[in-house]
Amino acid sequence: MDQLKTIALRRLFLRASNAVLELVYPPEHQREDDPRWRDVSFLDDPCCVACGFPFEFDVGVDSLCARCSARRPSYDRLRSAFAYDDGSRRLVLGFKHGGRTQDVKRFAIQMRRVGRSFWATADWLVPVPLHTRRLIRRRYNQAAILANALAGIVNPSCRADILFRHKATISQGLQTASGRFRNVQGAFSVPDGRRARVEGKNIVLIDDVFTTGATLEACARTLRRAGAETINAVTLARVVKNMAPPS
Ligand SMILES: [Zn+2]
Repeated sequence: MDQLKTIALRRLFLRASNAVLELVYPPEHQREDDPRWRDVSFLDDPCCVACGFPFEFDVGVDSLCARCSARRPSYDRLRSAFAYDDGSRRLVLGFKHGGRTQDVKRFAIQMRRVGRSFWATADWLVPVPLHTRRLIRRRYNQAAILANALAGIVNPSCRADILFRHKATISQGLQTASGRFRNVQGAFSVPDGRRARVEGKNIVLIDDVFTTGATLEACARTLRRAGAETINAVTLARVVKNMAPPS
């Protein structure tokens, strides 16, 4: 009974805090008051049911893009808040490499919007981890910052202690598409002592930018092997140009 009361109270609190956030950051207002947000291309339906690749026309429910038709990703569904292009590059890079965190609440609101069908059944938000060495150099993990901000406005909470990056990989930015897939193979793991938190759970992976999908693919495979029931993913931004199926 107490637990039910706690859940009901938490829901009430979330609803109230969401209403406050929407008052503070209404979506239209965001685009007008800040030139860095003005040219952002927000993404939504219609899109590929698996990877969220945007379609120009609604081609029916459960439609797949060419890439996912050739090979379904290891995650179930991915949704991204906006396109990573000339209109959003400054905003994203300021956060990713410039340490600018002033937009995090707005980012989280946009990520909540595109992941709206995930929240009711999700158990955890799991940020894509960085290797310790890179974490020390960058000082913070952007994916964890986004996951924490999101956890403040959706039901599932953030768990940064179930997925680890144990292999130091070279920067994905310097890799070709197939190089990126090789680069992250076997880079992630779930510690034996944390498997109970993964088995049968509905997990939402959180990352900043989806480029080739190599990192999310490797994370999803690792979580799947550890027994996760559903693996969805939400990223802040994604590259939207057509991509060849991974080799
Ligand atoms: Zn797709």
